[in-house]
Amino acid sequence: MELWAGIKDRKPIGSDLFSKPDPWYRYFRLRFFLDFARRLGLAMGPFVNPVVAILSYHKVGAPPPEGWTTWNYTPIAEFESQIDWFVNKGWTFLSASAFVEGLQNTPLLPRRGVMVTFDDAYASLESSALPALAARDVPGVVFVPTGLAGQRNTFDEGIEPAEAIADWEQLRNWQAAGCSIQSHGASHRSFEDLENDTLRQELIHSREAIEQHLGRPACLLAYPYGHPGNVAQRTAAWAEEAGYAAAFAYGGGAVDFGTSLERYHLPRLAMGPSVDPGDLLKGL
Ligand SMILES: [Zn+2]
Repeated sequence: MELWAGIKDRKPIGSDLFSKPDPWYRYFRLRFFLDFARRLGLAMGPFVNPVVAILSYHKVGAPPPEGWTTWNYTPIAEFESQIDWFVNKGWTFLSASAFVEGLQNTPLLPRRGVMVTFDDAYASLESSALPALAARDVPGVVFVPTGLAGQRNTFDEGIEPAEAIADWEQLRNWQAAGCSIQSHGASHRSFEDLENDTLRQELIHSREAIEQHLGRPACLLAYPYGHPGNVAQRTAAWAEEAGYAAAFAYGGGAVDFGTSLERYHLPRLAMGPSVDPGDLLKGL
């Protein structure tokens, strides 16, 4: 009889379905909240995750008189209008050190950042891109193949016109004017073609050469031809060990800090004539 009494004392099923302590009420409330948060997150994603577009140029301006034009020459007017696109759209220009700080502490990054980089350190930048950046108060980042400073782009022979690569004095002046000088390896050989020891020496020596000539070691690396070598993860480990904070490929889109980053294989936007940043960065 005790058993029957217990059953009779129970409340009718569903009588307290909407009272606050009811587990169903809490369940639906939690579901609603989670769903709302998920939808908000999706909608706000591009606004809350910092995005950094890293522009990668080679030469800006006209080829030398005895040369010929290639896609790697961006006419000055086009270069200026590409940079102005970012200015007008309210993107924040980052120096190399601001970028490295942002890598270590993402909340320091602006919602939309842009860093302007140049591979090979062509001497001609001094009268083309660098004054255009200075006029806009935009910092530049130059990747120099340290073993070729003051020489020519012999690695491009027959493919690109011969161009002078800045010497250390020029690089020192660029640095004093606010440009950051970083590593593009030492000899500009593709890392794919190098033995392990040689590859490691390129990483270490180019960083040291910059420290020796310019007073501060490189913290960024742009792979020659954008290639990290045959085993990207191994190169990444060596680059980190050598003291680099990040390394760049050539090509690809913007770096989205809302995703897991491959710090030693970050994409850069390949910039040249007729490249419209608005097309490359649609939706950002
Ligand atoms: Zn290069």
